[in-house]
Amino acid sequence: MQTICDCLIGGEWVRGARGARDVLSPYDGKKIGEFSVPSPEQIDSAIQAAAKAQKNWAALPVKERSKVLYEFRNILLRDQDEITRLKSSECGKTFAEAKAGLMKGVEVLEFALSIQNLDLGGKLEVSKGVSCEFRREALGVIANITPFNFPAMVPMWTIPITLALGNAYVWKPSDKTPLTARKIADALTEAGLPKGVFTVLHGDAPTVDAIIDHPEVKAIGFVGSTKIAKLVYQRGTALGKRVLALGGAKNHIVLLPDANPELSGVGISDSFTGCAGQRCMAASVLLAVGNVDQHIERIVQRAGSLELGKEMGAIITSAQVEFLKSAIDRAEKAGAKILLDGRKAKAPKGMEGGNWLGPTVLDMVTPGSEAAVNELFGPIISIVRCKDLSQAMQIESQSEYGNACSVFTSNGAMADRVAREATAGMVGVNVGVPVPREPFSFGGINASKFGHGDITGHASLDFWSNTKKVTVKWEKQSDSNWMS
Ligand code: NAD
Repeated sequence: MQTICDCLIGGEWVRGARGARDVLSPYDGKKIGEFSVPSPEQIDSAIQAAAKAQKNWAALPVKERSKVLYEFRNILLRDQDEITRLKSSECGKTFAEAKAGLMKGVEVLEFALSIQNLDLGGKLEVSKGVSCEFRREALGVIANITPFNFPAMVPMWTIPITLALGNAYVWKPSDKTPLTARKIADALTEAGLPKGVFTVLHGDAPTVDAIIDHPEVKAIGFVGSTKIAKLVYQRGTALGKRVLALGGAKNHIVLLPDANPELSGVGISDSFTGCAGQRCMAASVLLAVGNVDQHIERIVQRAGSLELGKEMGAIITSAQVEFLKSAIDRAEKAGAKILLDGRKAKAPKGMEGGNWLGPTVLDMVTPGSEAAVNELFGPIISIVRCKDLSQAMQIESQSEYGNACSVFTSNGAMADRVAREATAGMVGVNVGVPVPREPFSFGGINASKFGHGDITGHASLDFWSNTKKVTVKWEKQSDSNWMS
């Protein structure tokens, strides 16, 4: 069955006037749906409708808004398998990976539900007869632009928190994975969200630019590649808007000889092959310190045993498969030794029209070479051999990115040193994908993030709201007889 995803404008699904585009499944290349792209006039009317609806939404007490979000949670849980199947078919993840992404989104939703009980504001008598009060207020209409690789989880980082705070939400999903947006929007409507509070607009640069430039849009969240994150950040901040733009990554794992071979074999292999390497927290460079050959053997063995189509998913487009294959060719020419060659992998039976690449392990990669420094975004790990931890940390610190760095070791002091010295916003110790769980926030540093604060957790409350300080002084009270 094909999913049609039009634009959600003022609470109605409307055909975008700039025409429809096909959505192909990375699994077999077949058409699974289409989305339509709005005209500038439609974008304007959508955002005007959002601005109008936002006023009534923000006027509701947070407990009333939370009731809608609680119902939204119930619907997502009720329909989790259906949403998971759709997600998986459009982004190429396995069913288990797609479900885990949705559940991580539900976890953020549960954090947002706690705002009503924990974000109490504050009031204090600051001098005799004078009190100061702190109130949180919605920004108005806010927008989020999301990437293909997590069609539910990344949007769910911001949907529940921004709505709980009283904002109206404008979503520009990835043009590669627009279909999950339909299910999420329908779930919010079914949950009782008033018309216009949630808007979906499709397309690419022209749609994004029109959203950023619209005077009613007060803040912008972006998640995607560093190149586009920078553009979005610059465009939004030039207009005086607040922007938090999360970019790409090149994550390092430091492997020390005293690491548990089984734990590190599973953790490192799963980190670079999970979601076929298409996640911003995936291991990309293995900094192999000293003699860790037996650990590397286990990584190669586990990654090499994965069944494509079942245990590892597909690559988003055929063009990306070609890019990844050519990057492996170039690494080989530059002197890398190929321990596991994904170029030779065969498409699973019946999925020959899909986009497939097997797990690839490159050894003896030179620091500074393309495979060691560029984000490739596929199931490829580049092993850089290091004589000691100092050399490993020096290489790590030269990365332009700063999302994740992990260490595998059984030595607590070494682990602490890596946590201190890593130039990354999220650090793991014996954890291959160190994504913080709620209420700890998600966010990298350096070229992995433009703007201040993290996109989830407590810091996000300040990003998606204004804090108003009210200072109050009343006349001295005297007795009055109101009955006379
Ligand atoms: P992308 O940058 O190509 O696209 C992201 C979004 O921007 C999409 O909605 C896309 O339609 C839109 N877009 C594309 N070109 C645009 C332009 N010129 N102007 C304005 N908008 C434009 O990223 P992608 O390929 O969808 O996702 C993969 C990238 O996202 C990787 O680099 C990955 O590391 C990164 N990512 C980062 C995080 C994080 O938390 N830091 C999380 C997930 C993915």
